Amino acid sequence: MDKVDTIILGSGPAGATAAIYTARAGLSTLVLEGDVSGGQLVTTTVIENFPGFPEGIGGAELVMAMRRQAERFGARFVGRSAVGVDFSSRPLQVNVGDKVFFGDTVIVATGASPKRLGLPSEERLIGKGVSMCATCDGPFFRGEVVFVIGGGDTALEEALFLSRLAKEVYVVHRRDELRASEYLKRRAMAEKNIKFIWNSVVDEILDAEKDKVIGIRLRNVKSGETSEYVCSGVFIAIGHKPNTDLFKGVLELDEAGYIKTLPGRTATNVEGVFAAGDVKDPHYRQAITAAASGCMAAIEAAAYLNTVRRS
Ligand code: NAP
Repeated sequence: MDKVDTIILGSGPAGATAAIYTARAGLSTLVLEGDVSGGQLVTTTVIENFPGFPEGIGGAELVMAMRRQAERFGARFVGRSAVGVDFSSRPLQVNVGDKVFFGDTVIVATGASPKRLGLPSEERLIGKGVSMCATCDGPFFRGEVVFVIGGGDTALEEALFLSRLAKEVYVVHRRDELRASEYLKRRAMAEKNIKFIWNSVVDEILDAEKDKVIGIRLRNVKSGETSEYVCSGVFIAIGHKPNTDLFKGVLELDEAGYIKTLPGRTATNVEGVFAAGDVKDPHYRQAITAAASGCMAAIEAAAYLNTVRRS
């Protein structure tokens, strides 16, 4: 039986940090890396706001350094994804398809995926002017014209953040009424350099052929008319989807699918199972907050093991 003290699902900053802490605490640690080794960070070009890197650091470089640090303490990383879990008996079980791993604790750090528009040009231009995160990439668009797609709280927060850097920010919403909260609406409407384009969706991001964003084509959903605008950045803010399909009916999830934990903690409703990072955080979604909650989950997992093994 392949049994360890802790199985960590996910290898982004939450999973990798949890692995540093559990492995260093002497717990045998297995990290199932998931579909994208290193998580969302690997698609971020440069991270300028992770403390300790005054010149910035590449997203992939940062998360790979975390991984090496965890491996130094003995954590084992395996390039597999969980396809099923059974938390109803002990040890806890994680199935990767052709094999089942057993753990006395599990830390779920499977992250969230930003929703995509589904356009081929969007896919081609990610990291080349198309971004899912204004906090991460906004500073690259100082003095430029940028577009934010979406009408919820995230879109307006992104627009407000960008309005302090960019020359003009256009918020494109598919209806004529924002979903966002009154407070954010009022703040965004009050900013002189934030403008709204209503009843419109993205027809195409220009120009995949040139390998960078030079503009955007919008389609008015009422009239069907298309219009082209010059811009150098497009921020997609149409929501995130936590990667929790595996845990439906197993762990307690909120209405949006995020894992529920005890207030201020990482413990889930199942003993020995902890959650860290974006999979439990609809709000901050930063590498540093994910890493911090990975640390918390590891400390809670170690404390839990101490308690059950003493009793
Ligand atoms: P959201 O509330 O689900 O809003 C997503 C927005 O994107 C909606 O306006 C939606 O349009 C639009 N949209 C969805 N799919 C689209 C598509 N394919 N094409 C064009 N537009 C599309 O997501 P969110 O803004 O990320 O917020 C998620 C949760 O986090 C919410 O509960 C929010 O309140 C919370 N949050 C809170 C704060 C804060 O309080 N400061 C900040 C960020 C997030 P429709 O309106 O037409 O559906």
